[in-house]
Amino acid sequence: MRIDVLTLFPELFSAFEQWSIISRAIEKDIFSLNTINIRDFSRDKHRRVDDYPFGGGPGMVMKPEPIYEAISNVKTEDSIVIYLSPQGKPYNQQIAKALSKEKHLVFLCGHYEGIDSRIVDNFIDMEISIGDYVLTGGEIPALVLIESIIRLLPGALGSKESYIDESHYDGILEHNQYTRPRSFRGLDVPEVLLSGHHSKIAKWRKYSALKNTYIKRPDLLNGIQLTEEEISMLQQIKKELEGEN
Ligand code: SAM
Repeated sequence: MRIDVLTLFPELFSAFEQWSIISRAIEKDIFSLNTINIRDFSRDKHRRVDDYPFGGGPGMVMKPEPIYEAISNVKTEDSIVIYLSPQGKPYNQQIAKALSKEKHLVFLCGHYEGIDSRIVDNFIDMEISIGDYVLTGGEIPALVLIESIIRLLPGALGSKESYIDESHYDGILEHNQYTRPRSFRGLDVPEVLLSGHHSKIAKWRKYSALKNTYIKRPDLLNGIQLTEEEISMLQQIKKELEGEN
């Protein structure tokens, strides 16, 4: 996969490139990351990329020409151009999975009051938000997308199991996790995890994952198809929780 980031702050990406799984994935040629400074495409003698909004109002708007030129410079027929924006589709693991199958992603990071709407309406493929709040620029959202996508590329993590059990991969949250010591301040690790009995452990983990989802994010359960076993586990979970109250 190739990723190009169009930004006014390319330096924000250099530390990221040297970081843990990202640097390993770059070394292993799993993906390449290029940052392109939108300012390099300004025709203005002062290299300006923003201007006052038509109609008045506070702040500045990013001009269309340098952004158009920057997109044209990297776009091929395999590219998906994504504008990071608080007005975009809310990002989630399903979008990450879909994007991880693409060959070339171009992330466009806005600043100031945002970018000229003629770019948004005509020259991008997707508008994605990382949440219902407003940040100063699209760089942190771009990093969020890149990291979540790279983890899904074959070979980026140690093993596929590292992500297929994780929260949101199959629509529910992950099971509880424990490490040594077995007993911590009188709190014991569930006995079954010490048993070495693989099928019992797998069953316990499914139960724990469903319980976490039911308690923390019950809304997720509406969006997925449960097996008969999972439905009966959920009934057990409800009984267990009623018994605790
Ligand atoms: N005036 C814009 C609005 O109200 O919709 C907000 C502009 S924001 C201050 C500047 C830039 O930050 C945006 O162009 C976008 O690239 C990025 N940004 C801010 N919040 C974001 C979010 N929740 N998700 C993705 N990108 C965001």
